[in-house]
Amino acid sequence: MSSWQARLFSAVLRKTFKRRLAAANDAAAARRVLNSAIYRMPKDVTVTPHTLGGVPGEWVESRAGSGSVTLLYLHGGGYFACSPRTHRAVTTFFARQGFRVFVPDYRLAPEFPFPAAIEDAESVYTALLRAGCDPQRLVVAGDSAGGGLALALLLRLRDDRMPMPAAAALFSPLTDMGNDLPSRMRNSERCAMFVGARMPLAAEAYLAGADPRTPLASPVHADLRGLPPLLIHVGADEVLLDDSTVLAQRARQAGVAVDLRVWPAVPHVWQLFHWLIPEGRESLAAATVFLKRQAAFGAADARAARPDFDAVVIGTGFSGLGMAIRLKQAGVASFLLLEKAHEIGGTWRENTYPGCACDVPSHMYSFSFERKADWSRMYSGQAEILDYLKHCVDKHRLAPHICYGAELREAVFDEAADLWRVRTADGRSLTARIVVSAMGALHRPAYPQLPGIERFRGAVFHSAEWNHAYDLSGKRVAVIGTGASAIQFVPQIAPRVAQLTLFQRTPAWVLPKMDGPIGARAQAVLRHVPGAQGLFRCFVYWRQELSGLAFLHPKLMALAEKMGRRHIEKHIADAALREKLTPRYTIGCKRILLSNDYYPALARPNVAVVSDGIAAVAEDGIVDGRGVKHAADAIIYGTGFRVTDPLAPVRFVGRGGVDLNEAWRAGIQAYYGLMTAGYPNLFLLLGPNTGLGHNSVVFMAEQQISHAMKCLKLMRNKGMTSIEVRPEAQARFNERLQHRMHRTVWASGCKSWYLDANGKNVTLWPGFTFSYWGRMKRVRRQDYRFGQACGAPSLDAPQPASLRGN
Ligand code: NAP
Repeated sequence: MSSWQARLFSAVLRKTFKRRLAAANDAAAARRVLNSAIYRMPKDVTVTPHTLGGVPGEWVESRAGSGSVTLLYLHGGGYFACSPRTHRAVTTFFARQGFRVFVPDYRLAPEFPFPAAIEDAESVYTALLRAGCDPQRLVVAGDSAGGGLALALLLRLRDDRMPMPAAAALFSPLTDMGNDLPSRMRNSERCAMFVGARMPLAAEAYLAGADPRTPLASPVHADLRGLPPLLIHVGADEVLLDDSTVLAQRARQAGVAVDLRVWPAVPHVWQLFHWLIPEGRESLAAATVFLKRQAAFGAADARAARPDFDAVVIGTGFSGLGMAIRLKQAGVASFLLLEKAHEIGGTWRENTYPGCACDVPSHMYSFSFERKADWSRMYSGQAEILDYLKHCVDKHRLAPHICYGAELREAVFDEAADLWRVRTADGRSLTARIVVSAMGALHRPAYPQLPGIERFRGAVFHSAEWNHAYDLSGKRVAVIGTGASAIQFVPQIAPRVAQLTLFQRTPAWVLPKMDGPIGARAQAVLRHVPGAQGLFRCFVYWRQELSGLAFLHPKLMALAEKMGRRHIEKHIADAALREKLTPRYTIGCKRILLSNDYYPALARPNVAVVSDGIAAVAEDGIVDGRGVKHAADAIIYGTGFRVTDPLAPVRFVGRGGVDLNEAWRAGIQAYYGLMTAGYPNLFLLLGPNTGLGHNSVVFMAEQQISHAMKCLKLMRNKGMTSIEVRPEAQARFNERLQHRMHRTVWASGCKSWYLDANGKNVTLWPGFTFSYWGRMKRVRRQDYRFGQACGAPSLDAPQPASLRGN
């Protein structure tokens, strides 16, 4: 779907510009029309005339300094029109993103026909290399004829065995001078700028009799092997559409990595109008990330004054994607999401065990700004939640920003330059002003050390690493653990297996789940009745908040405990089993579990609950604490996640070279779970004490994201390069927090992963979520310290409305 601005602008162009261009009888007349484009230079960018390799041109650079990547930009204009000046809207955009941009004023036809432009482009490229430009940090871009010229340059460099640039971005490239690609005529009417039949005008002027199928003139016909990665953006309505689609197809066949995107209802080279139509900005932001990823994200340049990216977000689960959406909405173009896997989704990608679902209602366990009317159930399953997250990526066009297979290993804060030096497990590195950790705490499966486990001959796997290839049908299965995951998969597998032995260390309090499908009629009401969805979300929110009362006032838990006991009594007839399953601690102290099918599953004749501990594992089963052996073909761990050293194996090294893992050994703490003293420009989404026992953590993540965005706004407005919480503000906050914690149900003495080795709850928020929201709404400036690294620029967001003011 295209924006109304793009559709309106295309319509206006069709009526005005296209008509004028179509009426031009020769190249000189068309040149006058095309050269009429003007763009008011932004004040924060400088233009310096310069000659490189004998070719005049201009350097376009941000006054705030440049990063380490140089961009050679080749302007369009059919090889006979336009100049660096007419394309400043695009080149200044790239300069503001930290590129050093050189735009050659290459020779134009008909005075200087083919291959003069290519020779000039190659001369400039060679001069850049001679001037010390590292080809790994050199990228090329071009639009229209400039896109074709960029391709021709790459072919020349390859044939001359010259070092290739790291990547190229081509906007609606003109790749065929023969004019016989079908879209030239097919899109003649729809195209907002060109009439297909008039295209040979450019070819005549440029070719001056040369064969239009000459590969350098029409790179779509060339042998494309050995080219660097290409980003190609083109409009679906353009007469030049097939110049891109055929090129992309042929380049892929030649083994070139191609990122092709076809945009609906945009005019030719709409990037020039990014200040008017959102698709322009969108396309340039995607190109920025693409080019920087190829060029900068290899080995960070320690000398560059400016970081490669404004922000790097670690992880693509709920909180990482939420942060990315807000960065994008705020107009920050230069940000990257690092994802260790090859798909988005975090915990909802990793956990695929049978019955995996959320125990928070879906209408709350989703973004407030991205509501979904057609959740199929009150408590949705893993697949539907993962689909929802994929929808968020598509709708907010986050794909270009995501770098898969990039597992963060280390981020070191450079105190002199106020930036983070980030390194991935495979040795790549980059620099970023801001790092947002959205890694989540529950992602490293905990495997208990069971004596003799190495002897076991059957299958062994963890609920978070479910082995779907292993058929459980008719097998004897031992399940260890009775937590949130086990109570979901045990009822699913119990009917399939021959025997299920459940090893329970501590029984959990399990309450009925008010779950059920949401019918088509209810979905239609939520979708179509104005305000219905908001109202329903509001109802669910306050219902969840109400249950929070009991966590804060443990006496109120008596009612829940009664429900828990009744739930057991209703489904378990055997008195001994009832006894085993009844917890001996205050309900709520560990996570309250919700299930309607857990107890009925345990009452099955093929299910046994063992609560005598595990003495050893034998070749073919598990020996319990009383010496009884339980035969097993498979062992499934439902034993949760490693929560001590929540950051490991990642190292965040802050001021004074202190690793946050080390700093936290004395006790994990942060300021509102978001920032921690000594680690400037590092935001920890869902950090310490932001977990919940009663409501949606997505709500908490959203409050943190909003707060982080306000911090960034402040930084930018003050022209600062760092923000850091003051240690005294953090200490004050934690003192108050732990004081509150003493009055909650979690202080009632039971053992859980909520508590650290000293019995301190470093996991949960001891209050209502609205109280957290109230505190995160405003940035208390007195709690923060701002810094300005000498000569370094602040964040590079181009001042959209949402980043202005605080
Ligand atoms: P968990 O809640 O930590 O439960 C782990 C279970 O394994 C507990 O019963 C624990 O017993 C047992 N266990 C651990 N080590 C053991 C050992 N050496 N021997 C015997 N038993 C052992 O883990 P989880 O079920 O994977 O859930 C982890 C977290 O994921 C949850 O708390 C929740 O936050 C999240 N989760 C959420 C949902 C959801 O719907 N939103 C669903 C699943 C998971 P003890 O109780 O004695 O320690």
